[in-house]
Amino acid sequence: MIPDKEIKKQYKPIFWKNPEKYYATKVLIEEGFKRGICKKCGKPFWSIINKSTCGDPACSGEGFSFIGNSPCKNKLSYIDVWKKFSEMFEKKGYTAIKRYPSVARWNPTMDYTNASIAAFQPYVISGEVEPPANPLVIPQFCLRFGDTDNVGVTMSHHTGFVMIGQHMFVAPEKWDQNKVFKDMLDWNIKGLGLKKEDMTFHEDAWAGGGNLGCCMEMFSLGCELWNQVYMLYEQTNNGVKDLKIKVLDMGLGMERNAWFSQGAPTTYDAVFPKVLEQLRKKTGLKYDEKLLRKYTPYASLLNNDEAEDMDKAWKVVAKKMDMGVKELKEYMMPTSNLYAIAEHMRSALIILNDGGLPSNVGGGYNLRMLIRRSLGFIDKNKWDIDIYEVCEMHAKEMKLLYPELSEKLSDIKKILEVEKKKYGATKEKTFRIIESLKGTKINEDKLLELYDSQGVSPEMLGIHAPENFYAKVSELHEKVEQVAATEKGEEYDLKNVEETKPLYFEDYKLTKFKAKVVKVIGNIVVLDQTAFYPTSGGQIHDIGNLDGNDVVQVWKQGKIILHKVNSGEFKKEDVVHGEINFERRLQLAQHHTATHIVNAAAKKVLGEHVNQAGAFKDIDKARLDITHYEAVTDEELKKIEKVANEIVQKGIKIEKKFYSRNEAEKKFGMTIYQGGAVPGKELRIIDIKGVDIEACGGTHLDNTKEVEKIKILKSTKIQDGVVRIIFTAGKAAHEESKGESANVEKLKELLKCSKEEIPGRCEELFGLWKNVIKKGKQVEKKLISKNKFSGDVVIEACKVLKTQPEHLVKTVERFMKELGI
Ligand SMILES: [Zn+2]
Ligand SMILES: [Zn+2]
Repeated sequence: MIPDKEIKKQYKPIFWKNPEKYYATKVLIEEGFKRGICKKCGKPFWSIINKSTCGDPACSGEGFSFIGNSPCKNKLSYIDVWKKFSEMFEKKGYTAIKRYPSVARWNPTMDYTNASIAAFQPYVISGEVEPPANPLVIPQFCLRFGDTDNVGVTMSHHTGFVMIGQHMFVAPEKWDQNKVFKDMLDWNIKGLGLKKEDMTFHEDAWAGGGNLGCCMEMFSLGCELWNQVYMLYEQTNNGVKDLKIKVLDMGLGMERNAWFSQGAPTTYDAVFPKVLEQLRKKTGLKYDEKLLRKYTPYASLLNNDEAEDMDKAWKVVAKKMDMGVKELKEYMMPTSNLYAIAEHMRSALIILNDGGLPSNVGGGYNLRMLIRRSLGFIDKNKWDIDIYEVCEMHAKEMKLLYPELSEKLSDIKKILEVEKKKYGATKEKTFRIIESLKGTKINEDKLLELYDSQGVSPEMLGIHAPENFYAKVSELHEKVEQVAATEKGEEYDLKNVEETKPLYFEDYKLTKFKAKVVKVIGNIVVLDQTAFYPTSGGQIHDIGNLDGNDVVQVWKQGKIILHKVNSGEFKKEDVVHGEINFERRLQLAQHHTATHIVNAAAKKVLGEHVNQAGAFKDIDKARLDITHYEAVTDEELKKIEKVANEIVQKGIKIEKKFYSRNEAEKKFGMTIYQGGAVPGKELRIIDIKGVDIEACGGTHLDNTKEVEKIKILKSTKIQDGVVRIIFTAGKAAHEESKGESANVEKLKELLKCSKEEIPGRCEELFGLWKNVIKKGKQVEKKLISKNKFSGDVVIEACKVLKTQPEHLVKTVERFMKELGI
C-alpha cells in the first residue's frame, strides 16, 4: 500500500485536472463562485471575489481575523450549533442520531473515537453492515492528543471536541455530490448567516484507513470551518479500485463554528463560558477580554510543534501586542493553565463517563495524562480547584447536548479521588528521584525506565518528553490479554470447502448429531455441520467422538470448524455420528454463563465503569479480567460472590438470539461490546434478562439456576486499571469448596488450632521460620497464637505465607519440617 501522504500527492493532479468530475462545481458556478489558483501554494480554490491566494493563513500571511469581528449574522452558542445544524438537516431528509461512546470498544483499530466516521468503521464503510440511518448527522465527541501541549496556549486547540458528521453511504449510482455540498453551503448561509464574499473553498485530496478520495475544505477569514470528504476508492493489492459504496464524510468542528460565529477571544470562552466563569471566581483570575482579543490572533506563533525557540516566540507576540514580555506572561501563564484545566477535565469527564479508566497503558495513559496535567497546573498556581467539581460544572453546562454525562458522576468522583492519591504519591517519589538524578545525564532510555518502573513522567521531572515518547511507553506494555486461546498454527488448504453449520448455538444440551464429511486432511475431519464447539472467544473446545473415534481438539479456520481425531478412517461424503462429552460441555457452559454473571455482579458492586478486559473459561476454573481503578478488596470480592450467587439463585432466563449488528446496537446499546470488538454482520446476543447483555458466541445455559454455584477464588491486579478475578462454577465450584474444607481440616490438625486461628498461627510460623532458619536465632519453637480472623481464612493464610491455596498445606508442612516441630 502506498502511504497516505504519497497517494494524496499522486491523486491531487488527477482531481484538479477534472474538477467537474470530482467536485461540486455545478453548485459553485450556479452560486456565482469562480475558480482560481493560489499563487503561493498552487491549490485550486473557489471564491466570489477575485483573490490571488487561497486564504489559508500560510498563504495570506494573516492569522485569525474573526476575533471580535465575526462576519456571521447568527451568533451561535456552543449547543446552538448542533441544535440549529440538526434541525436544518432533519428538514433536508437526514436523520440526527446520538453520539457513539468516546471509548471505541467496537472499533479494533483505536482506543478513542477520533472522528465522526470512526463510529461506522469498519463494517458500515466496508458495506458489510447497514448504517443506523442514511443519510445521517451526528454530534460525535472525539479525542486527539497530538496537540495537548498547545491547549490553553494557542487558544484554538482541544484534546476533546465534537465533530459534527454529515454522512451518507450509497451505491455509486445514487451518489449526488452536488446535493450534499449544497446542503453545507446552506449551513454557511442560513446556519451561520455568512455572506458568500466571506467564503473560500479549497479543492483537496484525502486518504486514510486504506481509503482515498477528494475533499472540499471550507475557509473563512483564515479559519477552517468544515471539510467535506468524498471517499471514492480503496487501495488494494491490485491497485486503486472503486469502492462498492461511496461514503460521504463531512466533518464540522462544533467548537470552531461556535467560536467563529461569536468572534469570542478564545475557543474556550465560546465553548464552556459558564465553567470558566466559575473557575475565575474561584481563582480570582481576571477575564481580560481586551488583552485576549489582541493575543489570540498571534497565539499560533507559540504552537509547540512549530515554534523552535519559545522565548523568542513570546518576545515576538509581546511586541506585536505592544506589551512587555514579563507583563504578558504574568497574565497569560495562569490564564493558559486555567483554560487547560477546564479543557482537559471536559475530555476526562466524557472518557470516564464512557467507561475509560486512567492507567499506564494505551488510552488509559492519555486519560491519566489529562488528569495529571490538570493537577499539576492546580499545584503550580496553588489554586483551590477540585478536578471533580470541574467535571460536575461541565456535565451541567453540556446537559442539553449530552444528558448522560450527569448520570455517573458519583462513580467518576470515586475514580478521581483514587487518581489524586496516586498522583500525590508519585509526586513525593519524584522529589527524591530528582535529588538522586542530580548531575547525571538523562537520556531517553533513562526516561523510559523511570516512567515504566516508577510512573514518573518527563513532565514531572520538568523535562519536555522526547518525540514519540508515549508511543514507546505503550509499546513497552503488553496489551491486555484478549484471550482467544485459538490453536494458531498450521493453515490448512480449505479451498472450496463451505462454512460449517454450527449446531451448538441453539441448544447447548444437544450432544448427538449426524453430519456429512466434507473434507479429510490426515487426522483432521471437516463436517457440513457440527455440535462440537471450537476453541474461540476465550472458551476452550469440546471433546467427544465421531463414530466412536475420540475427538481431541476442535478449532476454527475462518468459518470452517476442524476436528482432530486420533483414530478411524474417514472419507468424503461419509455420514458420521458425532457425540460430545456433555460433562465437559456443561462445565464450560457453566463457566461461561458465570463469567457474564460475575461481570454484572462486579459492575453492581464496584461501579458502572467496570468492563470486561478479557476472559478465559477452562474446565477447572475460569478467569475474568475487569477494568477497575484500584485493587479489589477481600470484602468487595465477597460481595461480588454474594451478588453473583443471588443472580444464580433467582433462576433468570437466558435468551440467546442472533440480530443484525445494527438492530443489536439499536435495541441494546453499545454496551454489548463490553467484551471488546466483535467481527461480523450478525451478532449473537446473550441476554440474561435484567442482568447482563453481551455480544458473545460461547455456549450458554438456558437459565442462571443451571450455574448451581459460583465460588470466587481470588483476585489480582494484573495491570494498572485491570483486575483479574478467578472463579469456578457448577461442579468445579462444589469440588473447590470440598477441597477447601479438606484443606482447612488438614491445617487445623497441623497447626493445632481452630479454623479462625489458622492465619494467626501461619503468621507465627512464618516469624519463627525467619528467625530460626534465616537468622539462626535461638527461640522457643512453639505455636501459641490465639489471634482470630473473621474473613476467608485460606485466602488470609495464603497472603501471610505468600502462596496459592493449592500449595498452602504443603507450604505449612515444609516450614514445620524445616523447624522440626
Ligand atoms: Zn494557498
Ligand atoms: Zn461471553
